[in-house]
Amino acid sequence: MTDPRDTVLSCEQFQALLPELIGSGVDINRHPHMLSCELCRELLAELETIAEAARQLFPTVEPPDDLWNQIESAIIKEEQSSDSRTDAAEPAMKSAGASTGSA
Ligand SMILES: [Zn+2]
Repeated sequence: MTDPRDTVLSCEQFQALLPELIGSGVDINRHPHMLSCELCRELLAELETIAEAARQLFPTVEPPDDLWNQIESAIIKEEQSSDSRTDAAEPAMKSAGASTGSA
């Protein structure tokens, strides 16, 4: 019996780990989550395409580790953009009770 929690991460957890994994130089494609999750395979393919494009745009500059974070958060933002709403509760403060000074 193997404990699935050892190898199975949620997509959210896995994607949170991605920058770290990439930074540490492991073969992401061999990660258990990658083997079992088509969604994240597609996501990584996208990331790699973007990173490759970035490399071509700035051939002399090494992409900083930060870049992965930026790319990742940009994608996640896109995915969640339909979800975010700002419901500002307007404080209705009517102060119409200044009753001083009668004739
Ligand atoms: Zn996944």
